[in-house]
Amino acid sequence: MIRAVRFHGRGGQGAKTASRILGTAAFIEGFVAQDSPIYGAERRGAPVAAFTRIAKEPIRERGLIACPDLVVIADASLIHDPAAHALDGIDDRTAVFVNSPLTGEQFQALASLPGRLTTMDLTDIALQQFGKRGAISALLGAVAGRLVGLRQESICEAIARELADLGLAASVIERTQTVAAQCYEAVQMVALDTSSREPAAPVQLRAPTYEPPTRGTARISAAANSILRETGGWRTFRPVLVPDKCNGCWLCFAYCPDGVISMTKDDRPVIDYDHCKGCQICVQECPTEALVAEREKEGTVAWKAK
Ligand code: SF4
Ligand code: SF4
Repeated sequence: MIRAVRFHGRGGQGAKTASRILGTAAFIEGFVAQDSPIYGAERRGAPVAAFTRIAKEPIRERGLIACPDLVVIADASLIHDPAAHALDGIDDRTAVFVNSPLTGEQFQALASLPGRLTTMDLTDIALQQFGKRGAISALLGAVAGRLVGLRQESICEAIARELADLGLAASVIERTQTVAAQCYEAVQMVALDTSSREPAAPVQLRAPTYEPPTRGTARISAAANSILRETGGWRTFRPVLVPDKCNGCWLCFAYCPDGVISMTKDDRPVIDYDHCKGCQICVQECPTEALVAEREKEGTVAWKAK
């Protein structure tokens, strides 16, 4: 029996680390575990997916998880992002966790998702407990671990190992373990149906085929087309100007990696929210704290359901 878990997040939210925490926790409990992420050009806010397989026997499957037993969605705006494919392969037997301030019933009323839904506002918990934006990887891992039936102690040990590998201080790790344990206890359980997803026939291993070296790779040749991709839907937090604090230094303009800040004639920034991906670099670099991060209410499914 394989438990197949697929994580969807935005670059910087920790979907990859969450999948590692889950895999490590399973490994600690004596299972065979496999985890892997997939993302394109690494970019904060861009859709990211990660996959964890857990089994008692050697796992011969590789690659993407097409029919997950559990889907963990770190940002509700991913649900209707065609690039994220967050709902692919979900049916009535799939357990689905969404990081959302809405209850499962409220969310379901708006989104009508297939699957067995449960929600929790991990972003708010992280803000309250850590005062940081987006530090939810361990919380995602804890919730996923509970939903697939792993022990809390294993999750906490896995959090310690994975966060230590990332160079976090012992005090931060300890605090994270405590908050993750609270999320583990609090998440509303939904039934996990793994039995019906076993492959009907043994998995066929195939040798890869390679193109000859004379064959070229795809490339983008059209110029100035980034305007076509509205990355505003990537935001979890939006930068907002407090005009009275702005001294017109232009640093936000200089630091914005996507060039979505323009300056007015009186040296005040104007943000193109259709393309601001919410990386918060401008907020961090502003010397007068004239830019503040506000949680993106549009990130809830309510915005997408309009
Ligand atoms: S960095 Fe801050 S103070 Fe400087 S222009 Fe931007 S918002 Fe104003
Ligand atoms: S405006 Fe700020 S938050 Fe938006 S992309 Fe630029 S630096 Fe990032």
